Amino acid sequence: MVKVVKFGGSSLASAEQFVKVANIIHEQDSRRYVVPSAPGKRFSDDIKVTDMLYSCYDKAAKSKNFDEEFKAIKERYYGIIEGLGMTLSLEDEFETIKASFKARAGRDYAASRGEYLNGKVLAAYLGYEFVDPAEMIFFDENGAFNAKKTAETVKERLKDIERAVIPGFYGSCENDTIKTFSRGGSDITGSIIAAGVNADLYENWTDVSGFLIADPRVIKDPMPITTITYKELRELSYMGAGVLHEDAIFPVRKAGIPINIKNTNDPTAQGTMIVESTCVKPRFTITGIAGKKGFTVVNIEKDMMNAELGFGRRVLEVFEKNKVSFEHMPSGIDTMSVIVNQAEFEPCEQEVLAGLHRNVSPDSIDIETDLALIAIVGRGMKSQRGTAGRIFAALAHSHINVKMIDQGSSELNIIVGVADSDYEQAIKAIYEIFVIHQL
Ligand code: ASP
Repeated sequence: MVKVVKFGGSSLASAEQFVKVANIIHEQDSRRYVVPSAPGKRFSDDIKVTDMLYSCYDKAAKSKNFDEEFKAIKERYYGIIEGLGMTLSLEDEFETIKASFKARAGRDYAASRGEYLNGKVLAAYLGYEFVDPAEMIFFDENGAFNAKKTAETVKERLKDIERAVIPGFYGSCENDTIKTFSRGGSDITGSIIAAGVNADLYENWTDVSGFLIADPRVIKDPMPITTITYKELRELSYMGAGVLHEDAIFPVRKAGIPINIKNTNDPTAQGTMIVESTCVKPRFTITGIAGKKGFTVVNIEKDMMNAELGFGRRVLEVFEKNKVSFEHMPSGIDTMSVIVNQAEFEPCEQEVLAGLHRNVSPDSIDIETDLALIAIVGRGMKSQRGTAGRIFAALAHSHINVKMIDQGSSELNIIVGVADSDYEQAIKAIYEIFVIHQL
């Protein structure tokens, strides 16, 4: 059995956390490939090393003195090294990094050093080989991830290496410059490595015991999700359930490798298994609820709209031209509504309205703001009578007006739109009916 284990920033923020990580790795011989993040926060108002590197580099790029910021970064690593009783020196590395900062090696290069250095420390501590992802994770000339070349190279590079530490978050471009994924991107590295070595399992170790059915900021102590499918997770992560980077599921999903979200601070907790498909019956009809506030609805009305060929295309063309993506598009006979992200829409609102008038000559356009979207997701909903009925009954009993309804054709999710001000109450009502009442 081969496992790829990725540890997030808080799992590697201090010497104490490193000890926990090493114990977890040594506990199972199969944990052969380790992907670390940069040291994260040790306490709530601490600063992540990645953020320290960004601000340090910003100073360097403005030709300002960055000695103090650089020293603080060094101290984070030496704090870990000394705390572990190691004798490792990173002086040469720090010299190179400092010189590269002065030579303006780029913000991505700067940020990537957080993972790079943490990888060096962890490899030395575990006695594992260090493999630089710059040699095997590639981006093309436009900065897009080159999945094919990466997959081939990772496979080749790691095939004879028994155990390795591979820093997360970055790779390299055609011209050898360093490029990072977006924030939280070490999750993607872990997934790429898992696919590359044909792992049996990708364990993603973080500071929570997996996904919860609902946002703990809205629901007190929500129940955990023990098993979720990739599809369900897509529906939930899209709405903002941020334990795992959204793009991290693609490499492993393609290869049929499950992901297990685990908690470094509570390693015996089961965590959440993310799988392609499962016969494990979900405990509740719904697997999870997630939502987001801050949407705007553009309602377009025109008599005989339904008979006008190409109407929808011409409407969407206006949004596309203004680079506003749409979330949903419910329609009636003579009305069509386009739901968009308010922050994205606001700056070009008037251009969109003018464009719509030009393109489809509507009878009227009306804009409604402050809409929240809530996704109720679950493989258990398929072919079950009454799920939608129960959702709407629960909302009605809570005096919540439903402004929009959308059921995905997979029967995996129902999305409801409510006023931003009803958002929390709506989630509570849905959680209560599907989880509390089913306990
Ligand atoms: N260190 C990077 C960040 O803070 C990447 C990661 O931790 O996954 O975003």
